[in-house]
Amino acid sequence: MLQEKLQDVFNEPGCSTNQAKSEKERKKGCSKALKPGAAAGGCAYDGAMIALQPIADAAHLVHGPIACLGNSWDNRGTKSSGSQLYRTGFTTDMSELDIIHGGEKKLYKAIKEIVQQYDPPAVFVYQTCVPAMIGDDIEAVCKFAAKKLGKPVIPVMAPGFVGSKNLGNKLAGETLLDHVIGTVEPEVTTPTDICIVGEYNLAGELWLVKPLLDEIGIRILSCISGDGRYNEVAQAHRARLTMVVCSQALVNVGRKMQERWGIPYFEGSFYGVSDMSDTLRTMARMLVERGADKAIIDRTEGVIAREESRVWRRLEPYKPRFDGKRVLLFTGGVKSWSMVTALEGAGLTIVGTSTKKSTKEDKERIKKMKGEEFHQWDDLKPRDIYKMLRDSEADIMMSGGRSQFIALKAKVPWLDLNQERHTPYAGYDGIVNLCEEIDKTLSNPIWRQVRLAAPWDLKPDARPDAKPVGA
Ligand code: SF4
Repeated sequence: MLQEKLQDVFNEPGCSTNQAKSEKERKKGCSKALKPGAAAGGCAYDGAMIALQPIADAAHLVHGPIACLGNSWDNRGTKSSGSQLYRTGFTTDMSELDIIHGGEKKLYKAIKEIVQQYDPPAVFVYQTCVPAMIGDDIEAVCKFAAKKLGKPVIPVMAPGFVGSKNLGNKLAGETLLDHVIGTVEPEVTTPTDICIVGEYNLAGELWLVKPLLDEIGIRILSCISGDGRYNEVAQAHRARLTMVVCSQALVNVGRKMQERWGIPYFEGSFYGVSDMSDTLRTMARMLVERGADKAIIDRTEGVIAREESRVWRRLEPYKPRFDGKRVLLFTGGVKSWSMVTALEGAGLTIVGTSTKKSTKEDKERIKKMKGEEFHQWDDLKPRDIYKMLRDSEADIMMSGGRSQFIALKAKVPWLDLNQERHTPYAGYDGIVNLCEEIDKTLSNPIWRQVRLAAPWDLKPDARPDAKPVGA
């Protein structure tokens, strides 16, 4: 079953990277073998958990040794406006005895305990490497528990060893398609109902976008999965339009929703002024094409005009401060191009961007914007990044947390752009937040301090504790 699912995911027609490969290459999957010394990213289970855990009112139970869950409280900074249950880490904490005798009974007991104590609308059960290897039939236990306890109990079959975090995201999407989406009917529907896929409400980003959609008259019927509720996700099949936010991670959900329920989808971004405006325009246009009132187009243009003039006014003070400042962007996916436009709009110069997780379209888009000469790196090694920073080719690096130490070692300012950050960067207000953070990072006096020579590297009479001559 899992093998079939993996082949299906690897054959994703909506993923241009996969489609560009030969059939033989496609079968091998997306993960590249790691070279000795390279740091591995998260596993498939981790990716599945990232994609589903923001469903805030559901319980998320990890069936495996305790270390797979990691933290017993909280997640990567995704926010909820209501239930906080998703922040509790549930695990079956498998031990050696469970490996010998099997963990199925323990799993059922854990599900039962969660249902009795917390009464969530659903329980997601995550498979990890150990139960997959000893052959625990998680699907059967979930089916049995759902029948016995009268609640949806959903098996998430993405054990870590099958591949990367990105593959885990996709398998989580498949789980929703197989077990959740289409199982609940909404009480009311409107012609402007949308489903957003791949938005995790990190640091509350969705809340910077939602008020604008409310003002235009677009309703988020379902968000997969930021600030999500189980029943809303289950109603996603009644949306009139799907927006896929991260072009690679959950494109399979957008495409299959189109295939099964005829819902058109588009890939968009909430990062950067022009991309935010493009996204709102595309949403309004596609909803009108599907029968929504034409008035939303005018309302959208009104909101865009007001917000753009407001944001440019707010960005004005940063322009002289950013003059001549160069940024090394080390992110991926949609962010690789939408951040380029956003930062250049604020007066920064981008020296290059990584495109490891970007699609062919993402790369083409950057090429169109910046020309052939612009640096796009598919696989920039840590030592090359370090060399660039040490040779002062950039004044600041923006990346995910894993590469921060390269910048810190090179004594160059660094700003977190990925999921662990605490500031929302989406929407028009988000770009102002981003510029404020860049400004604070660049002007932090610590950088002057750390670049000073260490006392033990100075000549004795130049050391701070040197006694004045004749003292
Ligand atoms: S690779 Fe396997 S054992 Fe390690 S965290 Fe992922 S699921 Fe758990």
